[in-house]
Order: sequence, then C-alpha cells, then structure tokens
Amino acid sequence: MSEVVYLNGEFMPLENARVPVLDRGFIFGDGVYEVIPVYSRNPFRLAEHLCRLQSSLDSIRLANPLTDAEWAKLTREIVARNEGDDQSVYLQVTRGAAMRDHAFPKGAKPTIFVMASPLSTPSRDQVENGVSAISATDFRWHRCDVKSIALLGNCLLRQMAQDAGCVEAILFRDGYLTEASASNVFIVCRGVAITPPKSHLVLPGITYDVVLEILAANTMPHEIREVSEQDARAAEEIWITSSTKEVLAVTTFDGKPVGGGKPGTVFRRIHPLYQEFKRKVMRQAA
Ligand code: PMP
Repeated sequence: MSEVVYLNGEFMPLENARVPVLDRGFIFGDGVYEVIPVYSRNPFRLAEHLCRLQSSLDSIRLANPLTDAEWAKLTREIVARNEGDDQSVYLQVTRGAAMRDHAFPKGAKPTIFVMASPLSTPSRDQVENGVSAISATDFRWHRCDVKSIALLGNCLLRQMAQDAGCVEAILFRDGYLTEASASNVFIVCRGVAITPPKSHLVLPGITYDVVLEILAANTMPHEIREVSEQDARAAEEIWITSSTKEVLAVTTFDGKPVGGGKPGTVFRRIHPLYQEFKRKVMRQAA
C-alpha cells in the first residue's frame, strides 16, 4: 500500500499530491505545521497539538481553515488509511497560492496538507546509552514559539550536529539555553530537573509539558527557570524531549561525557514513567 496523504479536501497517493509553485509555503515558507505521534492508532495529546496549531495560525494571522473537530476527524482518517499502529502525523497549513508579493494576498485559499509516516522512536541503544549533542549559537529568529514551516535555521543547526556525528545541536542565545534544533532541553543539577520557561525564543513543546506533568505528579524536584550556558555545561544530566524522541538522555556534549557518561539516575526514573504515562493514556483512549 502506498502512503496516502490529504491535500485540500482529497485523499490521494503521496506521489499524486501537487501544489502550485506560487504557493506561499514554497515561495516564502509562509505556513505552520504540527507533528503528532500516534500510538496504537491513537493520536497522543491531540487536543494540545491542535491548540498549538491554533496559536501558530493566530501568530501568523491566518484563519484556521478547519475546526478542531474537523482536524481530529482528518487526523484519525489519515491514520486509518495508512499502515502501522504507530505513526507520525504531519499537518501543514500555508497561506495558499498567489502572485508573489510579501504582503498577504487577498482571497487566497489556504493549502491544507496532511501525511502520516511510520513513527520512529529512539532505539533501545539510544535509550540505554544516551546520544551525543554539540552546542551551537541560536541564530534563529525571535518567534521560535511559532511552529513555522520556515525551518532553515533549524535545518542548518541540525546538519551541523549531524556533520559532527551527533543527534542534536543544543542552542544558546546570549549565554542562556533556549532549546535544541528539533527538541526542548532539560538539565539536572544537584538532582533537580531544570528547563527554561516558555517564551518567544522556544517552541512550547507538547512533550516538555508531559515531562513537567510527570515530574510534578511524582514529586520529583524540578524548576522552570533560565539556564545559563555554564549551568548546562556543569549539568549532571541533559535530556532532550520531543514527540518523536520522547525523553532521551544526552550523554556526550561537545565531545565530553555528561555526568558519568551514561543516562543518569533522574533519567532512569523519568523514562519508564514517560512510557507508563503513554500506555495509560492509550488504554484510556482505546
Ligand atoms: N523545539 C523544536 C525546535 C522542535 O522542532 C520540536 C519538535 N520537533 C520541539 C521543540 C519539541 O516539541 P514537541 O514535544 O511538541 O514535539
């Protein structure tokens, strides 16, 4: 079965999906997106993803072309039409096709695109041994809270990490931790899990919220506060979080071991709790 996608009201094989070259997504990167993990055919934290989509659309002054109920129906339908119980659903809305002009066109119809691919979560080796990351200067724009399809900054940073044989680039702006090229970051200092607050400089991660919820529910010490580069470099543990990486330990940072060079004690507690949380939510949804 070939991958089935949704484009502007129709389901079709991926290879048949076409958008006009004047689509503002292609010309300007003028659009927003979401990535929703699906476990056992149930979208995880769907309401939260749709809420963030709404907030990204509001930020770029684009009216939401669908209601949340329509998005939810569409998400479930794309999951049903594709293979695999665990998937990753990608939703994208652009401002549509119009003659090239920076200012918003009048009367353009938004382009709606939805696809699903097999969900690839970290390997057992990555969970057990952690992954490597490099540091980089966060040179992106000042609206990183918007889940914009214009991801050139993130792509360049991620490629820098890949060129260094690493999974992620952990970003610092003016001496403070923001996030990573495609994930949020937590550190552990003296047993306390710490993550920077939500702001215009970081994407409000859905997994970030889940991890904070789990820390609170299990009375594990945690703080939301600015993290200096110095604190991050001295951390006992570093974790990255995202819908596809879930929660993953960074055990080598800029070529040096983090803590003992193995996933730390707090990670070894939070990781199974995250897996259990997922299973519980999925049981409730089933
Ligand atoms: N920050 C950035 C820059 C991201 O691209 C992502 C998602 N890949 C995240 C954080 C994590 O967000 P979420 O937990 O919602 O996947």
